[in-house]
Amino acid sequence: MPNLAQIQHNPPNYRSGIGLYLHVPFCQTKCPYCDFNTYAGIEDQISGYVVSLQDELRGWGTLLSRPPVKTIFLGGGTPSYLPTSDLEDVQKTIRSSFEVSPTAEITMECNPGDVTAEKAASWLESGVNRISMGVQSFDDGLLSLLGRRHTALEAKQAFRTLRDAGFRNHSIDLIYGLPYQSPEQWSHTLDEAIGLEPDHISLYSLQIEKGTPLAVDVATGKYPIPDDDLAADMYEEAQRRLSENGFTQYEISNWSKPNLESQHNLIYWLNEPYLGVGPGAHSWLAGQRFANLKSPRRYVTVVGKNYEVIGPDPVASMRTPAGPVEDVDITTPAIDVAETMMMGMRLNQGVSHKRFEKRFGVGANIIFPDEIKRLLNLGLVEVTNEALMLSERGRLLGNEVFAEFIGDGPDEED
Ligand code: SF4
Repeated sequence: MPNLAQIQHNPPNYRSGIGLYLHVPFCQTKCPYCDFNTYAGIEDQISGYVVSLQDELRGWGTLLSRPPVKTIFLGGGTPSYLPTSDLEDVQKTIRSSFEVSPTAEITMECNPGDVTAEKAASWLESGVNRISMGVQSFDDGLLSLLGRRHTALEAKQAFRTLRDAGFRNHSIDLIYGLPYQSPEQWSHTLDEAIGLEPDHISLYSLQIEKGTPLAVDVATGKYPIPDDDLAADMYEEAQRRLSENGFTQYEISNWSKPNLESQHNLIYWLNEPYLGVGPGAHSWLAGQRFANLKSPRRYVTVVGKNYEVIGPDPVASMRTPAGPVEDVDITTPAIDVAETMMMGMRLNQGVSHKRFEKRFGVGANIIFPDEIKRLLNLGLVEVTNEALMLSERGRLLGNEVFAEFIGDGPDEED
């Protein structure tokens, strides 16, 4: 059990800067493995959504008194599927409602099938300075299995178009552990990705999410159950190959060239304040973790100029029915300490002793003495003068380590 008696809780304040996430719930086609809050075939809702999104942005800008913004992330969904004029309007509204840092990292997720030279120029012009492209594989057969609407060649062409347009910070997402994926196919995908010389690579192991068409196909035997051991081998192969090619792993699923880590995602892993706008977007600020209602149609009917300032709590003013916020959880010191450990341990640099003590008044070794001792004995974590971090072995068994900090950790006898 954590020892919470000595905590002096001092979480970071949103007035010191936030990450701003915009959720775009539209996709041209729905990939069969995806359980995100995204929809195909509702393009008729795009214009209403764009109006409501800007209303929500203006509302938060007022309620939070124009807070500083360190990063912006347009995700989803497929932001690159939105008309460029809508994206430009949204960027202008962000700048008129928030204090965007001149050095802010502004990322947009992009589907290779959407990239043209004209669109790329417009995205750049609107302020986007980092592209995160969902490639997933450079094997056409696997892309087809994943229901992607682009080929491997189109992904490569899209990447070059973005580079030619002037983007200088470029990330690629890949998925491994796919049904029928051989080590050779994975190796080929890594070759192609490395050959494009991106600045950042994110690798995700395929998860079979309940309720998706892929889950049905696996349950009915159309596709085999993914092999965890094979996926672990693919992960280790990627670690080796990326390290040999100038990438540094800085998080369980993320590698970058020097100083090109995702600043926005670092805000999540360092458990700093962020605001999510759009249907189903999640936020953490003002001592609360909260989420917007998920339905894009309902979002458009609810968000407007109806919110009223209710006391000093900005989140209260945005709760339904006046605003889109639906689920709110107060972050107690006990929850904050667990979340700070769980997220920070994902980073290769681990949980910095200095940052932790600034936030909680005492070190993690005081709050989690037994848990840390147990994890050290199991060889799953390491302690240096600077930080507590996962060991190589711990990185493969991250969930077991994280569970320890929420009170459900591994048994020593296992
Ligand atoms: S494009 Fe991305 S967000 Fe859209 S359905 Fe496919 S995986 Fe999901």
